[in-house]
Order: sequence, then structure tokens, then C-alpha cells
Amino acid sequence: MKIKNILLILIILISNLFSQEKDKITLQLDWFHQFQFAGYYIAKEKGFYSDNNLDVSIKELKNNINLAQNVLDNKNTYSVGKSSLIIDKLNNKDIVLLAAIYQISPMTLVALKKSNIKTISDLKDKKVMLSLDAKEAANIHAMIKSQNIKIEDIDFISPSFKLDSLISGKADAMGCYLSNEPYILKNRNIDFKIFNPSDYGFNFYGGILFTSKNELITNPKRVRDFYNASIKGWNYAFSNIKETATLIYEKYNTQNKTLDSLIYEGQALKKLSQTKENKHIGFIDPEKIDEIKRLYSLLGFSNKINTNFDDFIFNEHKVILNELESNFIKSNNFSLITKTKNRPFSYIIDNKIMGIEADLIKLISKKIDVNYNIIEDPENPRIFDNLKTNSIHLKFNYSVNQVNLRKTIYSKPLLSIPMGIVTSHDKNIITNLSILKGQKLAILKDSDIYKELKSKYNYINFVLVNSKEEAFSLIYKGEIFGFIDNILSLSHQMIKEKLSTVKISGTLPYNLEVRISTNKEDFLLIDVINKVIPLITNEEKEEITKKYQLILFEKINDYSWIYKFILPLLLTITIILLVNNKMRKEIKKRKYAEKALKDFANRDSLTGIYNRAKIDSVIKEEIKNCKSLNQTFSIIFFDIDDFKLVNDDFGHIKGDSVLKNITSLVSINIRETDIIGRWGGEEFIIILPKTTSDKALVFANNLRELICKSDFEINKPLTISIGITQYLENDTKRDLIKRADEAMYDIKKQGKNAAKVL
Ligand code: GH3
Ligand code: MG
Ligand code: MG
Repeated sequence: MKIKNILLILIILISNLFSQEKDKITLQLDWFHQFQFAGYYIAKEKGFYSDNNLDVSIKELKNNINLAQNVLDNKNTYSVGKSSLIIDKLNNKDIVLLAAIYQISPMTLVALKKSNIKTISDLKDKKVMLSLDAKEAANIHAMIKSQNIKIEDIDFISPSFKLDSLISGKADAMGCYLSNEPYILKNRNIDFKIFNPSDYGFNFYGGILFTSKNELITNPKRVRDFYNASIKGWNYAFSNIKETATLIYEKYNTQNKTLDSLIYEGQALKKLSQTKENKHIGFIDPEKIDEIKRLYSLLGFSNKINTNFDDFIFNEHKVILNELESNFIKSNNFSLITKTKNRPFSYIIDNKIMGIEADLIKLISKKIDVNYNIIEDPENPRIFDNLKTNSIHLKFNYSVNQVNLRKTIYSKPLLSIPMGIVTSHDKNIITNLSILKGQKLAILKDSDIYKELKSKYNYINFVLVNSKEEAFSLIYKGEIFGFIDNILSLSHQMIKEKLSTVKISGTLPYNLEVRISTNKEDFLLIDVINKVIPLITNEEKEEITKKYQLILFEKINDYSWIYKFILPLLLTITIILLVNNKMRKEIKKRKYAEKALKDFANRDSLTGIYNRAKIDSVIKEEIKNCKSLNQTFSIIFFDIDDFKLVNDDFGHIKGDSVLKNITSLVSINIRETDIIGRWGGEEFIIILPKTTSDKALVFANNLRELICKSDFEINKPLTISIGITQYLENDTKRDLIKRADEAMYDIKKQGKNAAKVL
């Protein structure tokens, strides 16, 4: 047992080695590192980002960059900005707001008590130090204007962002962050007064996380992952202010703040982050955006008030389609074709098609805003041919494995339902399928699992039936041992027909996967549905599957029957589903680990690329393919020039890292179908399927130049010598390697840094 555990841990460790390379992205802040951005540091340091395969660099503000434009130009993937982003949007900058961490902007105006500024109107003819970019301080401008003071009556001076200017009297008032400057003044026992725009009704958002529309369309999953991890970071940061402040103090303290001031900042900002009506942190209210937009226009920042603001606010529950997909959805009609003798998935009551299929389609269509019909699938296919609809047809598909038909394409599974066995009450619980040896078990004739079961359990005596009713009557008559079907259909039928002398006695290690299928040429529909599937929550699925059992309950008035029969049945189903879920997760983990383990044996331990043994077998495989398919392929053999000198001059460790860098450079520059491996020391082979040697030569020379141009931090360019050969009829693996090796050696003799075909 112990050894087994250790092995399992090892396998999991190894599988972690092969975890995907992380997506590198940047987050640009709109000020220097401080608690103001705490959630992002937490998300990074606690691994919330890396759990989602994101490698995020957090950049503090340097120089006067245009935050929105930088995101649009892809210089930053994500960024933090102020409410003035709304002005950018009014000016047609295609940005998307993800979250507003501060529901009230921390930006306020501060004046010293001794200056005798008691009200905003006292600011007349006074020196006010404020960001020169008026839109950045728009909330303060709005507050001033609202008190009947003309902006021209104030003497704005350019900011030093230093409190000393205020203390020394160079400025009478200055813009400040509620979370920073008041702390310093308090500490120095200087009395002050704060003028907060929110007290005057100007509620701007602050700390707005945003990205480009392009990022949202091209990487919707990344946006969602980044958003969720960041929000998780924020929740953590505000619930653990001291710990978070300590982290910033130790790792992000470019401003040399004291730990105390960071804690003060955290407490002040937490108050500003609180949302109304218990909305989640970062919530953006479209109405408030609209209000700010109108305010900006009143303040004269933009007159383009009618700019289209659709999709300006990110909705994590909304499916994001690219242009092709959304045009496809908009310009077509859709019809679900359904077989209506399939309770509880699809059936007719009072001339209405109902069931899980109809509900799932309704749910999907709501998420992508599309209209559809439901059409009953006629028994006679000829009627179907005459059924002229100019719409795209989709069907539900129930199978254990994805069946690959030539003309059909399938979505990922929407539901996955365990297969169960129903028997009469007197039978024992089936814990081991071998007890079914020689027993008669009914299965629906058109069931797609039949073939699979038959080949796997050839000791079972399968009885094909036309309907569930037939199967249950055979059980009642004692003519068969049991009936196999998915547990939803089974339980539905049992409750509906009050079949109280039967029970679900066991399950099979199979799940019925429910998918949507359509014609191959309408693959866009499947792409769209595959995007919707991850957004369907477990609660939504449960609600749909439960509903059809509840519908049946409504008609029951004999409660003792519910207690005696239905409750145990539901309990059985719940347990099956629970165990099933857990097992699936385990199996997935194990399969992944097995695959990783297998892969591990094929990898070179230094560089992670394929090793010699694997390259050997890939070449053999290629030769076999070429023989049967009459194709060709080429191999590139290369050796680093004067690599000994690298080791001599910089040491072995540096030599190793050069080997790693060169392999990753090559790996990312070969085609997806090409394969690279380490042949030995500093010799590598690239296999190029379906490629002639002249094409391989062009590629090899490009590669050589690329390596030569790259900086490996060895104070000189690194060059390689290359031998190339193409597979010719009857070549063996040895012939190929020998020719490529010879070609490479010819180059070495001729002075290196070149390529030759032999
Ligand atoms: P040439 O241009 O003729 O190929 O010269 P070279 O210096 O590259 O000579 P050669 O191919 O004969 O020697 C290969 C050297 O590569 C020998 C060894 O020091 C170094 N080497 C081989 N494998 C490794 C390794 O895994 N790590 C490091 N750091 N060096 C290695
Ligand atoms: Mg060499
Ligand atoms: Mg060598």
C-alpha cells in the first residue's frame, strides 16, 4: 500500500513536469506599487494566476504612457486605469472594462486646516495642485463646478505629487489619494480637511481593470481566467490586509513605504471597494457608467455621447464569439430535430415537445441570443427529406464514445449520465459485474452502447428490446435478470409507471455522453456550442435533470409510496452520481499521469525534447508511412560548432543552458508536424514529414541564420553545421542517418556554419 502511494505521488509529480507552458501576459498599473493594487500581487504570489496557466508580469507606472493606447497596441495585455477610460471609449478606443475595484474613486482634494479653506467656494483664487490632465481629475473638477466656482477662478499649479508643497504653502490644496496622504499628515500631527467628490454626488469608479476588445475576442478564456484569478486575489487581499501589506512591504516596496502605512492604505481602500447590494468585488454597474459618461460630456470632455457602448463592460457569463461565429449565428435559422419517444430527454405532452433536450437548447440559445424551432423527427426518413426548412438542423446524440460519421460533427458532451442496471427487488446489489455471467440482460435495440458491451462482456446474454416498457415487463415476468439504460431514463420510467417492485441494483463503468451534432459544413455551430458548454453551470444542469422527476411527483398523492420507493431511488441515484464524479476525476488524473509517464521515457532529461530512442522510432514510423502512402520526408541533422569552447570559456552549467535555449528556440520555430530530438551531446535531428530536401534546405538555412542572430549570452554568435537528406525508396533508418551525418561532416570540414544536402 505504501509503495503504491509513493508511486502515485511520483507519477503526479512527474505529470507536473509536463504541465503546459504558461501564457505570458502583462498587467500595467496606473501608479507605483502599493496596496492600491494588492489583489494582483496576491493573485500572482498565491498562484491564482499560475493555476490558470498564466504568467503575469505586473508593471508599475513609468513615464507618462497612454494606458488605453498601450493596451490597444498590445504593449500590455491588461491594465489598470481610472474612470477617464470612459472618455477613451467615447473616442472610439476599443477597450473593455473588466472590473472596478474602487466603487468610489480614492481621488480627493486635501487642504490644511490652517489655510482656512472650509468650503469648496473658499478655493477661489487659491493655488490648487492637481493632475494637469484634467480628465484624470474630472471628479474634482465636477465637484468644484458644482459649487458655482469657475474653473478659471482657480490657480491650478503643476503637480509635484509631494505633500511638502502643501505643507510649505506652495499649494493651498492638492489632489491626493484618500488612502495615502491623510496617513502621512496624521502621523505628522498636521490638521487637514478632505473634500471628497463623492460627498458632492460625484461617484466615479477607481482602479478599473481593463483590456482590449481584441484580447476578449481572441482569448476569451484567458480573459475569464485572468479576471477570475484577479477577483480571487482581491477577495483575499481585503480579507487579509496585514498579510497582504507585509507581502507588498517585502516584495513590492519600490516607494519605501512603512508597513503601517500599507496597512492603513489597505483599510482605507477596503472601504472604497465595498459594493452596494452585496455585489461581488469589482462590480461595474452599467447605469453608473452611463451617469459618468453624461457627466464627462457636461464637463466638456466629449460630445460623442452616442458612441456605442455595447460590450464595453465584460460579462463573465456571456459567450464571446468571433466575427465569423457571430455572423453565422445571426444569419441562420436553427432547428432542433428530435425523436420524441425518449423520456425524459424528449417527449410530447399536450402537443408540446418537452424534455431535457428542449431545456438544454433553450438554455444555450439564451446564452447566445439565437432563435430556433423544435421539429419532431418523423419516423419515415422520406418525410424528412420533404421537410423543407431553410434552417440548420441539429440533433442530440447519445453515445458512450464519440461516433465518427463522415458527414456529422459533434459538440463536447453537455451531460454525462451513468449507465445503470434495473432488476427486481429480490436481487442483490451488483458489486461485481462477473456475477452477471450467463444472465439475461435487456438492452434497447437501437442503443449505441450495445456493441461496446457485447464485445467487452461476452459472458452476458444480451436480449434486445424495442422499448423500455417491453424491458420492464420482461423483468416483471421474471424472464430476464435486468435491464440496462442510463439512470435518468430508468428512474423516470420507474417513477412514472410506479414500478415499485424494481430497483437500480448497480451501474456499469460507462457513461452516456449527451452531445449536439450537426452537418460537418456547419462546424461553426459546434464551435459556438463548445464555447457555451463551459458556461453552463452544474446548478443549471441539475435543475434541468431534476425537473423531470419533480414533474412526476406532482401527480403523486400517495405519500407512503414516496417514502417507501422514491426516496430510496433518489438516494441511490445521488450516490451513483457522486461516486461517478469522483471516479471520473480519479481516472482522468491517472490517465494523465500514465501518459506523462510514457512520455517521460521518451524525453531527453536536459532539454525536454525527444531523446534518441524516440527519434529512432519516429523515423522508423515515417519510413513505414512513406512506403504505404508513397510519400517522402526529410531529416535535418545539426551539430553546434565549437561547442567545446562554450564549456571551456563559460563552464558546463552555462553550456547546459545554451543547449536548453537552442532547443526551445528551434522547437518554437518548427512546424507543428515537425519533430525535434536530441541525438546526443550537442547534435540534434529534426524530422520533417512530407517535405523534400530542397524545402528542408531552405528551412535549415533560415534556422541557421536565426540561431546565429540570437543572443545566447556567450559574447559571440553561436553557429551550427547542418546535414540534410531526403527519404529515398528502400532507405533504412541507418542509411538516412548516415547520409545526413556525412553531409554535416562535409560542412565541418569546409569551415562550418552552413548546410548541405546529400
Ligand atoms: P565542432 O564544431 O567540430 O562540432 O566542435 P565542438 O567543440 O562542438 O566539438 P565536438 O562536437 O566534438 O564536441 C562536443 C562537445 O559538446 C563536447 C562536450 O564538451 C560538449 N557537450 C556534449 N554534451 C554536453 C552537455 O550535455 N552539456 C554540456 N555543457 N556540454 C556538452
Ligand atoms: Mg560540435
Ligand atoms: Mg558533436
